[in-house]
Amino acid sequence: MRAVYYEKVKEFSIREIPKPVPKDHEVLVKIHCCSICKTDVHQHNGSFIAKFPLIPGHEMAGTVEAVGKDVTTIQVGDRVTVDDSGQCHTCYYCQNAKPLFCENFSSKGATEPGAMAEYVTADFDKVFRLADHISFEEGCLTEPTACAIHGMDMIDPKNGDEVLLFGSGGTGIILAQLLNHSNAGSVAVAAPTRSKLELLKELGIRETYQISRDGAAACREEILKNHPHGFDIVVDATGSEKVAEEAIQYLKKDGRLVLYAVYRPDARISISPDQFMQNQFRIIGSFAQCHCFPRAVQAINNGIVNLKKLVTSELPLEEFGKGLEMAEKGGEGVIKIVIKP
Ligand SMILES: [Zn+2]
Ligand SMILES: [Zn+2]
Repeated sequence: MRAVYYEKVKEFSIREIPKPVPKDHEVLVKIHCCSICKTDVHQHNGSFIAKFPLIPGHEMAGTVEAVGKDVTTIQVGDRVTVDDSGQCHTCYYCQNAKPLFCENFSSKGATEPGAMAEYVTADFDKVFRLADHISFEEGCLTEPTACAIHGMDMIDPKNGDEVLLFGSGGTGIILAQLLNHSNAGSVAVAAPTRSKLELLKELGIRETYQISRDGAAACREEILKNHPHGFDIVVDATGSEKVAEEAIQYLKKDGRLVLYAVYRPDARISISPDQFMQNQFRIIGSFAQCHCFPRAVQAINNGIVNLKKLVTSELPLEEFGKGLEMAEKGGEGVIKIVIKP
């Protein structure tokens, strides 16, 4: 089969490699769509948890082509998506019911072969059926939706909370829709790209603000005019430490700052401990997801999350490099790029 194959950081080619054979408890999935994530860009550049050599790709959808002899819940021909994450079930955190922090955490496309390939194998309990009315293009976005579901668990909006979200990338747009369906009192999104703000409006987000790319300070006055006490929850979904630091300026007393993005490992923000103490501010991180796929599939099936307009480009496997460049640059007209192996 053909696959994107990284020898090491930044060095990949499209290669012919052996098609994987499913073990007794595994499913073989023929990949129709695999979307590019900012994580793929970070891995390409050598950060995040990637182990090389590597086949990237963790946001996938396809058709079941074969099942191992112990698999009873999934059938050949099923249209599915796959949870890329794996847990060991035996380490300290797994035993203490915190599998997200599994010390032997694995992920397809990072520590195991991923879906930028014609086929992938997966444990049967990580394979989820898509509804008939959900396309493979939408289906591959179940993984970012699952991460947004976990984000919602961490944000935990209370009745009437005023929420401000920075960022309008794929996961930001998904998170905005989930927030809009939560019990938050108001949801505002601030981002630099006009067309993405227009899309957010189409998706039901009533309050949007266009901000400049290098931080939001210039727009603070305009946003706070409508929210004179600030926000109960401010979410940074940009991955920019500048924005994460600026976000503190928008918190109400007792407010929570949620860091919901992948940052450069050496990125730093500075805070005033006095300000945090006096205002009882809290900082909350949201990392990946674990066991959120069933709820993500449900939200997609029921139209709580609309993914139809998120796919802005579709490319063949051979153009993975081009897709990666587009994802890194982002901006006008680029939300999710889907590779079709
Ligand atoms: Zn992802
Ligand atoms: Zn574990």
